[in-house]
Amino acid sequence: MKKSAVDIKKNTIQKIQKSLARWYQKNRLDLPWRKTDDPYRVWISEVMLQQTRIETVIPYYNRFMDKYPEIKFLAESDLQSVLKIWEGLGYYARARNMHKAAQIICEKFQGRLPDTREGLLKLPGIGEYISAAIASISFRIPAAVVDGNVKRVLARLFMDSTPTNDTGRKNLFESYAAKLLDQDQPGDFNQAVMELGQRICRPGNPICSDCPVQEFCKVFQTNRIDQYPVRVDRKSVPLKKMNYAIVFQGKKCLLLRRPAKGLLGGLWELPGYEQHHRTAPGKQLENMICRMTGIRIRVEEKIGTVSHAYTHFKVAANVYLCFYKSGEICLNGPTEHQWILPAEIHHYPCHKLIHKIFPMLHGLANQDE
Ligand code: SF4
Repeated sequence: MKKSAVDIKKNTIQKIQKSLARWYQKNRLDLPWRKTDDPYRVWISEVMLQQTRIETVIPYYNRFMDKYPEIKFLAESDLQSVLKIWEGLGYYARARNMHKAAQIICEKFQGRLPDTREGLLKLPGIGEYISAAIASISFRIPAAVVDGNVKRVLARLFMDSTPTNDTGRKNLFESYAAKLLDQDQPGDFNQAVMELGQRICRPGNPICSDCPVQEFCKVFQTNRIDQYPVRVDRKSVPLKKMNYAIVFQGKKCLLLRRPAKGLLGGLWELPGYEQHHRTAPGKQLENMICRMTGIRIRVEEKIGTVSHAYTHFKVAANVYLCFYKSGEICLNGPTEHQWILPAEIHHYPCHKLIHKIFPMLHGLANQDE
C-alpha cells in the first residue's frame, strides 16, 4: 500500500532534515541573492527563478539590483523600463505584477513587504510558492515551498506514483513537504530541497552517488529511479502561424505596443497577426495591417521565417518586407506606435520571437527602399 505523508516516521524525518542541512551548509551555491535575507531581494530572485534556470537569472538579478537597489526605485520606475530590464526572461506578467506590487508596498506598507503569508498573498503576482519562499527565508515562518524540483525529489524519496504534473494532486506533495519541513530552519530547508532537485536529483540522470538522502530514498533502494517521477502525458502543443510585417517609411520602420494586459502585455513588436486560413498572405496582410493601424502598405516580399516555443503553444512566423503607402496611424488593438530606425529597436522591450527577427531588420537597414 502506498504510504502517505503522515506515515513518515518522526525519526526518519529528523534524519533526512539533518542530512540535508549538512549537505546544504557544505555545498550550497554562492548565489547573489543568498548574501542577504532581505525580503525585497528574496522576492525579486524568486520571481525571476520561476520557470527559469539559475545561470540565466544571475545576470538579470545583478542588473536589476544595480538599477533598483531598493523597492522605492522599482515602484517609481515606469513599466517600460522594468520590461526592458526583464526582456528575454519571458513570462512578462511576472514583471508587470512585480512592478504593481512594489507600488502597493510603497503606498500602503511604507516600502516594507508584509511579514505574514496572508499579507504576501494579497499582493499581485505572489502566490503559494513565492509567499512560502519569502516567508520562510526572510521571516523564518515554517512554510514549505513546492515547485517542480521539490515534487520530483519527494516523488522519488517516497516512491509515490502520483503524477508530479497533475495539478489536481498538488496537495499530496504539499503535505509531504509540510511534514518534512524543518520548523527551526525553514528557509534553509526549503532552499536545500530545491537545490537538491536542481543539481543532484535532476529530471534525467540523477547523481545518486552524491545525494545526501540516498539511504532514505525508496526508488534508490529498490532500483526504480528511472520509473520516477510519474508524469501524465500532456496533449501535443498546438502550432500557431503568424505573419509579421517590417513596414518601412523612408529609413524608419513601424513598431507597435501590445495592450498592457494579456499575453506579452506592454511589450513592443512588429505589426503582425495570426493566420487562421491557408490562403497566402499578401492582400490579407495589407488588410490586417490597415485594420490594426489605419495605414495602407505594399507587401514587397517574404524575407524569412522564425519560430519560437512558448509553454502552451509554438509559433511559426513568416516575415514580410513592406512599404508604407498612405494613411494616418489610427490604432485598433495596439496602444502605442513609433516609427524607429532599425538600430533603435534595442531601446524597446520586445518579446523573444521579435528578437529573432532583429537580424533581418538590421540586414534591411542599409538597403535602399
Ligand atoms: Fe534523487 Fe537519487 Fe537522491 Fe533518490 S538517491 S533522492 S533518486 S538523487
